[in-house]
Amino acid sequence: MKFSARTFHMNGVSISLSLPQYVEVMEESSHPVGGVDYPRTLAEFDAWFSSERDCEEYLCRLRWPRGFECPACGAAGGWQTGRGLLRCSTCGRQTSTTAGTLFEGTRKPLRLWFQAVWYFTNQKHGVSALGLQRVLGLGSYQTAWTWLHRLRRAMVRPDRDRLSGEVEVDETFLGSPDIETGGRGTDKTLIVIAAEVRGRGTGRIRMACIRDASAASLIPFVESAVVEGTLVRTDGWAGYGPLPRYGYPHRPTSQRGTRIPAHVAMPRVHRVASLLKRWWLGTYHGGISERHLEYYLDEFTFRFNRRNSRARGLLFYRLLQQAVHMDAMPYTQLRSHTPAGSG
Ligand SMILES: [Zn+2]
Repeated sequence: MKFSARTFHMNGVSISLSLPQYVEVMEESSHPVGGVDYPRTLAEFDAWFSSERDCEEYLCRLRWPRGFECPACGAAGGWQTGRGLLRCSTCGRQTSTTAGTLFEGTRKPLRLWFQAVWYFTNQKHGVSALGLQRVLGLGSYQTAWTWLHRLRRAMVRPDRDRLSGEVEVDETFLGSPDIETGGRGTDKTLIVIAAEVRGRGTGRIRMACIRDASAASLIPFVESAVVEGTLVRTDGWAGYGPLPRYGYPHRPTSQRGTRIPAHVAMPRVHRVASLLKRWWLGTYHGGISERHLEYYLDEFTFRFNRRNSRARGLLFYRLLQQAVHMDAMPYTQLRSHTPAGSG
C-alpha cells in the first residue's frame, strides 16, 4: 500500500485518525490525486493491491475518510481485530470492512473485485459479462453478470448534481435493429435525453426511460435532471409546453411538422442518442432487456460524463467511492428487479 504518510494503520493501532495531516489530506478528496488517492497505471494498481489487507485498507479509507466511525453507536475510533473486522472502542461492536457496501457477503477475494472494477472502468466502452468472465477467469457467467450489475448500480449515484446553464432535451427510441427497420414502434423503449450546451460542445448529460412522451412523463424528468431557471431547448412538441410553469425558461423550435431536421435543431441530444445506439449495439449487441435498461443508461451516462477524464484511475476511484456506500444485492434480486420509471 503506497499511502506513505497517511497510511491507514489498523494492526491493533487506534484508527480514530485524529492525525491532522490525514484529515487535511482526506478533505481534499473531492480532488483526488493520481498516484496518491488512486493508482494511475496497471503497474501501480498491482503494487497497491497485492493482498486482501491492502484492499480492505483502501475500502476503509474510502468509507471513513476521517477515520473509523462505528455504524452502531456513531463513536469514532476502533481497532482492527483481523479478518477485516473493526472493533468499536466505545461500544465494542465489531463491524466488517465490507458490511454495508457493494462487497458485503462476497465469497470472492476483494482483489478480484478490485480487478473487475479496474477493468470495468478502464474499458472506454464498457465490458460484457462474457468479457469480464474471460479476463478474470471467473468460473461462472452468472457471477460475472451479477458483478457487472452491482457495479452499474454503483454508477447511479455519482454526479447527481442537476444540469444547468442551457440544456437541450429530446426523446429517442431504443430498439433492436430488426424492429427499427420493421417500422413498428411498439417494442421500442422511449428514452429522454438532456444535454448541457457548452459553447459549441456538449457538457454533462442525463437520461431516463419514460413511459410515453406526455407532459406527465417529460416534466418530472426535466425536474429531476435540470436545475430550475435553466433555459431548456426542445422541439415544438406539446409535452414540453408546461415547462415555464415549472420554472424553466423554454425555447421551443417549431421543428415537429416542419422541415428542420432534428439533428440540426438539437445537435447535442442527437449526437448523444447516436452514440448511445452505437454503444448499445457494439458492446451489448442490442441485447439488454428493458427492465435493466435504466442501469445501462446510468453506465453510459457515467462514462460519457467522464469521457474527457485523462485519468482512468479516477473512474476506478469514483466507482469504488460509491460502492462503499451502497448495499450489495443478491443475484436473484438483481435478476427480478425492475427499475423505477421503466414501466
Ligand atoms: Zn460503537
